[in-house]
Amino acid sequence: MITDDLVNELQAGRVVTDPDQMSAYCNDEHSYVTPGQPCAVVVARERDDVVAALRWATRNRVPVIPRGAGTGIVGGTAAIDGCLVLSVAKMTAIRELSAQDEIAVVEPGVINAELDKQARKHGLMYAPDPSSYETCTIGGNIATNAGGLRCVKYGVTRESVLGLEAVLADGTVIRTGRRTIKGVVGYDLTSLLVGSEGTLAVVTEATLRLRPAPKQPPVTVAAEFATVRQAAEAVFAIVRSAVGPSLLELIDRTTLKALDDWRNIGLDPATGAMLLAQADGSDAAAAAAVMAECCEAGGASVVAVSEDEAEAAELLNVRRAAFNAIERLGSCLIEDVCVPRSQLPEMFDAVAGIAEKHGVTVPTVAHAGDGNLHPVFVFDRTLPRIPDEIWAAAEEVFRAALALGGTLTGEHGVGTLKRHWLGEELGEQTLAANLAIKRALDPLGILNPGKAI
Ligand SMILES: Cc1cc2nc3c(=O)[nH]c(=O)nc-3n(C[C@H](O)[C@H](O)[C@H](O)COP(=O)(O)OP(=O)(O)OC[C@H]3O[C@@H](n4cnc5c(N)ncnc54)[C@H](O)[C@@H]3O)c2cc1C
Repeated sequence: MITDDLVNELQAGRVVTDPDQMSAYCNDEHSYVTPGQPCAVVVARERDDVVAALRWATRNRVPVIPRGAGTGIVGGTAAIDGCLVLSVAKMTAIRELSAQDEIAVVEPGVINAELDKQARKHGLMYAPDPSSYETCTIGGNIATNAGGLRCVKYGVTRESVLGLEAVLADGTVIRTGRRTIKGVVGYDLTSLLVGSEGTLAVVTEATLRLRPAPKQPPVTVAAEFATVRQAAEAVFAIVRSAVGPSLLELIDRTTLKALDDWRNIGLDPATGAMLLAQADGSDAAAAAAVMAECCEAGGASVVAVSEDEAEAAELLNVRRAAFNAIERLGSCLIEDVCVPRSQLPEMFDAVAGIAEKHGVTVPTVAHAGDGNLHPVFVFDRTLPRIPDEIWAAAEEVFRAALALGGTLTGEHGVGTLKRHWLGEELGEQTLAANLAIKRALDPLGILNPGKAI
């Protein structure tokens, strides 16, 4: 058997070949991609397991699918026939947490929320907070350049990665970046690897930037508007006010209706959109007051400002429960286009028009401060795959985003599902430059083939 060598090279229990056990490692959460059958799964516990697995894969020309927690939603971890799945989810050590340098050095399987929890013991926080923060790994966040609610203030994952240790397809270990805030030696390979979706190297260690954790509880503002356009205008006003919101989310009427049907949130028939803004830090109350004024001046019918920490969290629950409410409507293709913030109203209008034209329900929430919309295409739960009319509508949404100067994906990545549209965004020459980088680092093309690029 081709896998005998692999079993011999790694410690007992680190190579799985039983088909039933392997099936748990073959796909990600909502990708609708039918996975293939791997020849084996390596459950790495240390960097040398990753090195051994990749050397073996290179010798035997076996494709490798790196994976963290498998919470991705674009088919990035979908197995292909005969591949080796390389899980780093059990590499969970936080090797260093330095309050003075405000950095953490971690293995890739550390769960996002766990790092944040440990950082807070030192008065610090790990800022990137994808909604999946309680289950997704730092390695997966780095590979997808994950975003989250706090990104509007603290930036996406890339802004928090100072350096990486990574293993190339042939088993070579490289170190990129540094542990200083500044530094410009060499090409910026750290940034290149962030967002490369497991196609260039397997991340085995990350040096991450931490930030001071705000000492005061955050203050939340919730405002209801008659139209999405009014809410978007309030977003512009809040950004121009320069108070630096730590969260700025916009929820459309279709999503609010789904929430109301489920949890009876007392939705006013005249409400067309809700804006949720939050401020953190020592001047949170003053910043929230300015944001509330922006909403009132923008024509909000209701503006609520939290008075304590519990209320701040409660107002935010509407946003946190949005996807659960939408999932009650049927199967969901969760999309992720991003446009320049100024184009938010046009993009919302485009989504609504496309939904109507195709007769599809498309509730949409947006990380409004980042111009990042998540239109969710709902379809019949009994269907075995995403129906053509849903893809037709989604394709029109992608084109609309590109026409507005935007991108196919703000934070979820390309994975398997969006490769088809890659050329339209990148263009022939840029795509060729991307492929040249891929060939330089992975000449046999064994790292996550068919994904991202
Ligand atoms: C309920 C829910 C909410 C979500 N909310 C958000 C959100 O707010 N923002 C957001 O950005 N995403 C979100 N996601 C998507 C997903 O959680 C993120 O993409 C996350 O970063 C994936 O982490 P993971 O550990 O699950 O990675 P996986 O799903 O295991 O892998 C994702 C990709 O990274 C690659 N990869 C994983 N680990 C490594 C490694 N060590 N080295 C190299 N490549 C690797 C894989 O090959 C794959 O291509 C959400 C998903 C769910 C299910």
